[in-house]
Amino acid sequence: MIDMHIHAVHPQLPGVKPMTDLYDGPVESLVAALNEQMTRSGTRVLLGMGHLNGQGVDPLGIASTLRIARMLPGLHAIGIADPTRTDTDHLQRVDAQLQTGSVIALKGYLGYVYHGPESAGYRPYFELAAKHDVPFIFHTGDNWSRVAKVKYAHPLAIDEVAVDHPNVKIVMAHFGNPWCMDAAEVMYKNDNVWADVCAILVGDANHFAKITASGYLQRTVERVRHAIELTERPDRFLYGTDWPLSPMDVYPGFVRQLFDDAHHSAVFEDNAKSLFKLSSAAEPNAAPVPVRIKVSGTS
Ligand SMILES: [Zn+2]
Repeated sequence: MIDMHIHAVHPQLPGVKPMTDLYDGPVESLVAALNEQMTRSGTRVLLGMGHLNGQGVDPLGIASTLRIARMLPGLHAIGIADPTRTDTDHLQRVDAQLQTGSVIALKGYLGYVYHGPESAGYRPYFELAAKHDVPFIFHTGDNWSRVAKVKYAHPLAIDEVAVDHPNVKIVMAHFGNPWCMDAAEVMYKNDNVWADVCAILVGDANHFAKITASGYLQRTVERVRHAIELTERPDRFLYGTDWPLSPMDVYPGFVRQLFDDAHHSAVFEDNAKSLFKLSSAAEPNAAPVPVRIKVSGTS
């Protein structure tokens, strides 16, 4: 299984508090926790988001993720594209960091940063993504911060940049949730747009048990499945947990219900493998471990 959306380090987004105490503790504890999550869920590859405000030779904010990766085989780093930093010096350092081959994708934080995808500030990053042939991920949909402005994160805005930059592979994180139908149309219409399905629901095992019992999980499955069907592109959906927001051994149970069995290996592994060119890192035939969501009160 490939989890293409986790946070091994604090993303340092305006208004977002650290999602786990592990970020402030010894790195060994964080590595042990991630290792345990991977083992329990059968996840072998993780793509970890960097942080904003990367400095010096680390303009994309991935050095801390790469330090963890040295202790955690299977972890790769995603660099953060900041549309407010487009001076030549910064962009040259971004180009150099991409040149090292240690950046598996770029990501823009729509809504947390007050720039839409069509902002001129993202243009040089699209050019660099095309030059180095790495996908460009945008946060889309609900923002987890009171100071974020969600109008910048609506998935419909992705259409404009998908059309204007046909040589860039764009991933809409969170499938634009709750505007999944809008995200679906953008995917249906454009050949260069993917989506991940992480953090559509968020919480620990108890929370998932609670929303399963209340029927909310099932209603969410139906709402999101409807949009997924509209795209007609099961080959362009990607699995992720947004860990630490959801446990790696719980979230797959929800995602399995979003897709027909025939598409599980594509969504949990193959789509990410080809999009992020992970062939050497991910072995074939790693079927997701089926996890039953426990309903409280039953064993
Ligand atoms: Zn995330």
